[in-house]
Amino acid sequence: ITIVLNETERLTKLTNSLLTLNNLNTKGMLLDKTDFDINQVIRNTASTFEGTCHNKSIAIEMILTGNEMYVHADMGKIQQVLYNLMDNAIKFSHHDSVIHIETSEKKNKLFVSVKDTGIGIPKEDLDRIFERFYRVDKSHSNQKKGSGLGLSIVKHVAELHGATVELESTEHIGTTIRVVFPQ
Ligand code: ATP
Ligand code: MG
Repeated sequence: ITIVLNETERLTKLTNSLLTLNNLNTKGMLLDKTDFDINQVIRNTASTFEGTCHNKSIAIEMILTGNEMYVHADMGKIQQVLYNLMDNAIKFSHHDSVIHIETSEKKNKLFVSVKDTGIGIPKEDLDRIFERFYRVDKSHSNQKKGSGLGLSIVKHVAELHGATVELESTEHIGTTIRVVFPQ
């Protein structure tokens, strides 16, 4: 029953990711933009990982600009981006570690970064991990669940918002992903 449950969960996630990507391609241009506080969305999204973090003794530390940081964007899609980034940061972190989420504002740009001190990404894979279905093929990472669609969704949603995604990662040291929004 556990195996069936795990497989069901895996297929449900895969189907949802495929549907999301498909929608981004067909209806993606139709962003449902509103003004909202991205700091609040970050706090809410982080709280959905409470259970997983507890199980791995991972702490999420948030350094968020002032109290609020308003963006004009599609809230549902941005929530998905934050979810995918936090999901990776937790999944590829070791037990007893800390994940840093930071927002800042500089020269009319808004920065959101998610930083972990997990397994990191080998140099040779860095420019491929945003591709659909691409996963680092190393024994340590292929025991982790996933279909390799999370980051392609991140990239796609960012592009639709005119935002860029910056990646910094060193194997065995950790990974930082920064999304930069125009204001
Ligand atoms: P899914 O997100 O669809 O559940 P996934 O997490 O494997 O599956 P992506 O989120 O697209 O897929 O990430 C692609 C690959 O990039 C991962 O399989 C992993 O090898 C690598 N990766 C992504 N984020 C990190 C991270 N924070 N630390 C280390 N490796 C990462
Ligand atoms: Mg992922």
